[in-house]
Amino acid sequence: MTGPARAARVAVVGAGVAGLTAARDLRRAGHDVTVLEAAPRIGGKLLRAEVAGVTVDVGAEAMLARRPEGVGLAAELGLEVVHPAVQASHLWTRGAVRPLPRSLMGVPTDLDQVAAAGVLSPEGLDRARHEDLDAAVGPDDVSIGDLVDRRLGREVTDRLVEPLLGGVYAGRAREISARAALPQLLEHAARGSLLAAAAALPPATGPTFGGLVGGLGTLTEALAEALADTLGGTLADGTVVRTGATVRGLARTEHGWRLLVGPTTAAEPLDVDRVVLATPAAPTARLLRDVAPVAAAELAAVESASMAVVTLAFRAADLPDLTSAGSGFLVPPVDGRRIKASTLSFAKWAWVRAAGGDLRLLRTSLGRHGEETTLQRTDEELVADSLTDLAEALGVLALPVDSHVQRWGGGLPQYAVGHVERVARVRAEVARLPGLAVCGAAYDGVGVPAVIGSARRAARDIGDIDA
Ligand SMILES: Cc1cc2nc3c(=O)[nH]c(=O)nc-3n(C[C@H](O)[C@H](O)[C@H](O)COP(=O)(O)OP(=O)(O)OC[C@H]3O[C@@H](n4cnc5c(N)ncnc54)[C@H](O)[C@@H]3O)c2cc1C
Repeated sequence: MTGPARAARVAVVGAGVAGLTAARDLRRAGHDVTVLEAAPRIGGKLLRAEVAGVTVDVGAEAMLARRPEGVGLAAELGLEVVHPAVQASHLWTRGAVRPLPRSLMGVPTDLDQVAAAGVLSPEGLDRARHEDLDAAVGPDDVSIGDLVDRRLGREVTDRLVEPLLGGVYAGRAREISARAALPQLLEHAARGSLLAAAAALPPATGPTFGGLVGGLGTLTEALAEALADTLGGTLADGTVVRTGATVRGLARTEHGWRLLVGPTTAAEPLDVDRVVLATPAAPTARLLRDVAPVAAAELAAVESASMAVVTLAFRAADLPDLTSAGSGFLVPPVDGRRIKASTLSFAKWAWVRAAGGDLRLLRTSLGRHGEETTLQRTDEELVADSLTDLAEALGVLALPVDSHVQRWGGGLPQYAVGHVERVARVRAEVARLPGLAVCGAAYDGVGVPAVIGSARRAARDIGDIDA
């Protein structure tokens, strides 16, 4: 390890994948790094839990394999990247589980495939076939839903775009920024036909998603262990990552930064040279209030969606043949169901099937932006809601032998129209403060690879690390 021009004391706030990635890069560059995490555990939204004795992800479970950051980092850490055993995904819509047509985030590549799947009504299909090329687009940002509504009709948004965006952002198509979430779509729309752009997508080569044997949660565990190794400490001794350490205040000192860490009544100062805030938008806004008021106000305006992941374990013998359901299905909100998706983890991941033995584990997710009442339901109600929908969609009538409910209050930031410009304003103010950087899911994408990318950028920005 070659040391930087000046080894600095760095505090990284937040031990999700963003904070741990930034901490590892900074540590490898020779800095003295302390990670402060409010929760009693590391990992943030990468979390595993035991269900019927099988340890599986109860947060994020797959990462885009076509972007290099996630699979690349996993490989660097010596983790085994695997791909779904079955690719076929489905939509539960218009009363049946139907093949999910290939699309550019819901804009179909082939309307005949959509027709064959029966995803749209005859009227909806007809409207989609007559793309309104005169519908004005840009130069300003617009929501993905508004763009697709104008060009291809509301039904394409409702039944194809919504479920896909719901899967990524737990958000609403007519609120999410096209420029932030799908800039290619906006560019194509400015040039011509959306349908033609989707149809021109190169044929899929290689798997879209990657996972890790043992779960995506092993990524943050491995990151923290790698960090501990560089310090000759262990994860358990608290020298590398201080868990249960909420950062409550951030102020500038003559040469660096002072953090206030710990319980409100007894917060202790920690003086460092540089700081990375790898926390979600709301806590970052609170921490920036005094030092970067513009960035704080911008981040305070980023809304988030709350959701729950329900994991169910069934006896294999109790389930019907679910082969035709592939890796699972998404549900458009317009269909008015309780769940918004189900992943048949036992079919999707060979390691889950093997670890389950005679058990079959699958999960459902519930809750979209603006549906806060979903999280007010009890665990029993969320399990019951999931079973009701699974019975109707797939004919699963058995009771599970075990279940697990993971709530993710404010789990996913919403990239509203204008998000890219908002992030630019945040970064502009933060960049004027020496030795301060921000990263995480609120900035350049909510998916794990994008979050890793933002963390590496933050480490470079303050760590004297070459790109
Ligand atoms: C249910 C769910 C499923 C998902 N599925 C996928 C998926 O399959 N694929 C994918 O690519 N992405 C998925 N995502 C998105 C992805 O998991 C997240 O965007 C990503 O993990 C966020 O990482 P992060 O480090 O930015 O934030 P977080 O994981 O939120 O970490 C931030 C950390 O900061 C800590 N913190 C907050 N405030 C303070 C404070 N004041 N002081 C100290 N610490 C603080 C928090 O406790 C937390 O541990 C999913 C998200 C959710 C919620």
